[in-house]
Amino acid sequence: VKYCSECGHAVASRWIAADGRIRYVCDACGTTHYQNPRVIVSCAVCWQDQVLMCRRSQEPARGLWTLPAGFLECGETLEAGAARETFEETGVVIDPSTLLLYSVVNIPAIEQVVISFRVDCEVKPMIRFGSECLAAAFMRESDVPSELLAWRTVMGNRPRRFFDEIRSRNFTIQQVTVGPVHGETIESHEYRIHSIVDSLEGA
Ligand SMILES: [Zn+2]
Repeated sequence: VKYCSECGHAVASRWIAADGRIRYVCDACGTTHYQNPRVIVSCAVCWQDQVLMCRRSQEPARGLWTLPAGFLECGETLEAGAARETFEETGVVIDPSTLLLYSVVNIPAIEQVVISFRVDCEVKPMIRFGSECLAAAFMRESDVPSELLAWRTVMGNRPRRFFDEIRSRNFTIQQVTVGPVHGETIESHEYRIHSIVDSLEGA
């Protein structure tokens, strides 16, 4: 932040004792310009034992494969954002209400929180990838070029675990914090829960 979005005056960084951190403050109009982490939403679209992957056409990680993902927009739910990014990158239409939570990943070193969902498709969806992708495809684990996976250090063993869970249909929800040095995982919790709605329908 260099200039005040309220009055255009140059802003100064000031130590705010009450908050215990430095913030950008406009001395002309008194506005404090708060900075907060960005939310990334991501969606694992599954068909049989395959997952929809896309190959990025833009930096960062140009040329590498990843799940459809992007920044949450204002006014959007997490699920709607994940479905929108999936459509923009791959042309695959997903009903946001069908998305199930898969993981919450804190990456404080780069000021991001990544929320990932998963969804199962009965019929293999048509792919029409957008300009953000060089390619998009449904892939089995053996199809995934592991040396071309984006953000491998941050991902840790989660791609392998995800494919294990797709095959076993025994899903977890993961809560992960990625550490600051080379993205090593410093903390991870794993939940195995049953959807109450699904349980009622199955009863
Ligand atoms: Zn100002």
